[in-house]
Amino acid sequence: MAIVETLPVGPLQCNMVIIADPVTLEAVLIDPGGDADQIIQLIDSRGFKIKQIIITHGHVDHILAAPEIEKHTGAPVYYNANDRNLWLSISLQCLFLGVQAPKKCPPPKNNLEDGDILQVRNGRVIHTPGHTQGSLCFYFEADKLVCTGDTLFMSGVGRTDLPGGNMQQLMQSLHEKVMTLPDDTRVIPGHGPETTIGDEKSSNPFLNLS
Ligand SMILES: [Zn+2]
Repeated sequence: MAIVETLPVGPLQCNMVIIADPVTLEAVLIDPGGDADQIIQLIDSRGFKIKQIIITHGHVDHILAAPEIEKHTGAPVYYNANDRNLWLSISLQCLFLGVQAPKKCPPPKNNLEDGDILQVRNGRVIHTPGHTQGSLCFYFEADKLVCTGDTLFMSGVGRTDLPGGNMQQLMQSLHEKVMTLPDDTRVIPGHGPETTIGDEKSSNPFLNLS
């Protein structure tokens, strides 16, 4: 099984996740949303070799520390380019959140599409638009684990009232993609506690409306 480390970081306590191969310690790092020093400390103390920095979506609370983590690890940043405009509006997003904007945080050069395979643990990219147009989930089948960003939470779903949000699309992404994963799949959401697909299937009020 993969080594899985989570750390709530940044202004909205986004769940930063590191998923590492237990033998090689090669790892992907998901959503460096802030607190770069803490993330770097975790990487270095465990000896993780970060191969890819992967972003669930372009909201600032998921990307604030991306430039520093990229610089420290040398790993490239990947995202879905449908969130390019969000990324370009990072200063505005910081203004709304009341946090200081990073000096430099250009959109990543590397695009991830639905079905792409990550460099660690054969993780698979699932494009789940709705919370934002470029929202991604990362599924690690052999490890029975999915990182859902702000698409699915314990007993909740992502908000769709921000620019790029679309409730109908979010529901379609959830019903046709995320909720078709096996019930015993561990879910690490973008914020808050972990859950499983099965638990959300039976008790998430937003998924059981109809
Ligand atoms: Zn978000």
